[in-house]
Amino acid sequence: MKRCSNCKHVFDSADWTCPDCGYSPAIVDGFTSFSPLNAHKSEGFEEQFYAQMFDLEAGNFWFKSRSKLINLMINKYFPEAKNMLEIGCGSGYVLRTIEKAYPGLSLSGSEIFSKGLSFAAKRVQKATLFQMDAQEMPFEAEFDVIGAFDVIEHIDEDRRVLAEMRRAVRIDGGIILTVPQHKWLWSYADEYAHHKRRYTANELREILEKVGFRVIRMTSFVTLLLPIMYLSRLRNRKARPDYDDTAELSIGGFISYAMERVMDVERQLIKCEVPLHAGGSLLVVAKRV
Ligand SMILES: [Zn+2]
Repeated sequence: MKRCSNCKHVFDSADWTCPDCGYSPAIVDGFTSFSPLNAHKSEGFEEQFYAQMFDLEAGNFWFKSRSKLINLMINKYFPEAKNMLEIGCGSGYVLRTIEKAYPGLSLSGSEIFSKGLSFAAKRVQKATLFQMDAQEMPFEAEFDVIGAFDVIEHIDEDRRVLAEMRRAVRIDGGIILTVPQHKWLWSYADEYAHHKRRYTANELREILEKVGFRVIRMTSFVTLLLPIMYLSRLRNRKARPDYDDTAELSIGGFISYAMERVMDVERQLIKCEVPLHAGGSLLVVAKRV
């Protein structure tokens, strides 16, 4: 169901005009915009970053592997899902891979900056895209699944976003999250990416339970590559004048191929539910209580 951004009235209708107060969301840069005042702010994420990501994501082992892992979780925990929303869909890479894997799933993607949506629109085929602040979601019991992949670590009020996600999922619905893990991996790469924090498994579980989710799966990933990641982050613990933010993302050739194969092995371990306690990232599946 929809929830009016103006008067909070909850309604079920094909269009967005609120039957109670008559409010209709604005259209900004061609996209329905629920938080137009934020649509062009670039705090938290540089707009130019989207253009860079659009080119880098498709060839990068990390993005490819993370997408396969997300699809694995949808298949295992939400096989009956009819619709899904991805918050912070960026340039649409994940949405596109979900679209290919689950052609019957009705997909939506949101971004706070409308600039990102124009990149996503080039990539996805059927997904509905809109501008939205995840701290104020215009939905109630609407989605079977909501995903936020490396998003909540960018937001000061992560609890508020998770509470909004809880309101927006259906009774039997749930969420899939990926977040950066381990405080000891904190480096300039986190600062550069405007991360507010890296999580620990216990901390995230506690927050999720407080807002009304039950964690049904939690695993680390980027476990086998953790030593390499640690060394790379150690080198960039502090800001360096020659820091290259695209260095990790633009790894190509044989190294990228080899790392992708390592991630393939790791995904098999995750599939077999081998416990992985440490890793560069944390993957969580939680259902609404
Ligand atoms: Zn209204």
